[in-house]
Amino acid sequence: EWTGLNELREKFLSFFETKAHTRLPSFPLLPQGDQSLLLINSGMAPMKKWFLGQETPPSKRVTTCQKCIRTPDIENVGKTARHGTFFEMLGNFSFGDYFKHEATKWAWEFITEELKLPVDRLWVSIYEDDDEARDIWINEVGVDPSHIVRLGKEDNFWEIGAGPCGPCSEIYFDRGEEKGCGRPDCAVGCDCDRYVEFWNLVFSQFDNDGEGHYTRLEHPNIDTGMGLERLACIMQGVDNLFEVDTVQNIMKHISEIAGVKYHEDETKDVSLRVITDHIRSTVFMLADGVMPANEGRGYVLKRLLRRAARHGRLLGINEPFLYRVVSTVVKENEVAYPELKEKQNFLEKIIKIEEENFNKTIGKGFEILNQIMESMQNGEEQKTLSGQDAFRLYDTYGFPIDLTREIIAEKGFDIDEVSFTELMNVQRERARKARMSQDDVAWADETLGLAGVKTQFVGYDALKAEGKIL
Ligand code: ATP
Ligand code: MG
Ligand code: MG
Ligand code: MG
Repeated sequence: EWTGLNELREKFLSFFETKAHTRLPSFPLLPQGDQSLLLINSGMAPMKKWFLGQETPPSKRVTTCQKCIRTPDIENVGKTARHGTFFEMLGNFSFGDYFKHEATKWAWEFITEELKLPVDRLWVSIYEDDDEARDIWINEVGVDPSHIVRLGKEDNFWEIGAGPCGPCSEIYFDRGEEKGCGRPDCAVGCDCDRYVEFWNLVFSQFDNDGEGHYTRLEHPNIDTGMGLERLACIMQGVDNLFEVDTVQNIMKHISEIAGVKYHEDETKDVSLRVITDHIRSTVFMLADGVMPANEGRGYVLKRLLRRAARHGRLLGINEPFLYRVVSTVVKENEVAYPELKEKQNFLEKIIKIEEENFNKTIGKGFEILNQIMESMQNGEEQKTLSGQDAFRLYDTYGFPIDLTREIIAEKGFDIDEVSFTELMNVQRERARKARMSQDDVAWADETLGLAGVKTQFVGYDALKAEGKIL
């Protein structure tokens, strides 16, 4: 049955209130007193102190709808049906209170009785040797055994170094063969958009001593996360996250400004979805106190804004326009986040300034980059952009390196990372001497994942996988 995104959020939170959970508002995207994380990326992240027993939670059962940013998903945005850099995560949490029996039973009750999702389209995954969970799903919850699959550690074991950790169970919705990749082995866990994972139940039942020794926790915890937009996408029967009611209104506004119709050209659709996503993430980040900068969180913000501006250009918009979309983002999110309205003027102003700054140099930068790429295309050998050119685009034309890397990669080229990093180091050294304290630089390096790349580039993919850079 069609249900609006705002209504789904409310249904979830009030459902868990009836199960004696305390409803808390979303925590800010900016981690509070946690330097280990750039931005909040799950419902559980701001509650780490409660899971680790460092502080006492207000209640042993909590439910939230948490704003999340996941920049490691950036390249999927607009291309897969299910990834945004911004999304909201619904969750119910138990701090040493209830465990697997209740978590599985309530999850199933919510989706099959409250939301009435058809059972034959639902699938459940368990961690490969978590027979306890399998047994509960089958015998207590009543899930069809042929709809339960075992997945490995990568998908179904939750862990962050030492501390509480444990197996997960995920719930998937089968959107039908026509949404799939068509490969003969396509099944739950496949990367395509047929079986969409929408709810992850984490059973944190072990303590990892940091050396791989697991002991059972006396009071195990529950941490679940369900993507609100993914759930809405399923309930509304639309193709992807960006076609969900409230999100779609933002995309429509962009479409209008660009004079580009959705669903006429796949490349343009990707751009429309990317802009829709990035304006959502940047508005929420700004509202939570992140400001554009060349390092750390501020760099993430800047990069998202510039990437959105570039996709605007691809749609033929050459004037600042993102700031005009802010009003729609505010309007569509007012129900849950009324504070956005109070900040609307501020949000528009900052975004406009950023767009204007970038616009001053972007045209010239593209011209230069296009020329270089053309000559690279014509040359036989040269498939690598020099560090010097990449640095010049960054330093003079305001191109975040990830943006250059992405544009270059679209043509099958790469960047001389080692020499770029060297030039960056020289500049960083200069900046440090000029204006920053030693501590600030260390922190910025740390958060950008650049701490270990002073003299040697250790690998962009590794850093990216850790979510340290985009
Ligand atoms: P996927 O495998 O599809 O990338 P995930 O396993 O990385 O998802 P989790 O870390 O388990 O996701 O997060 C819990 C839930 O949050 C997911 O089941 C999904 O509903 C939602 N979610 C995760 N990443 C995103 C995203 N980038 N955009 C929207 N929703 C997301
Ligand atoms: Mg993921
Ligand atoms: Mg997954
Ligand atoms: Mg998951």
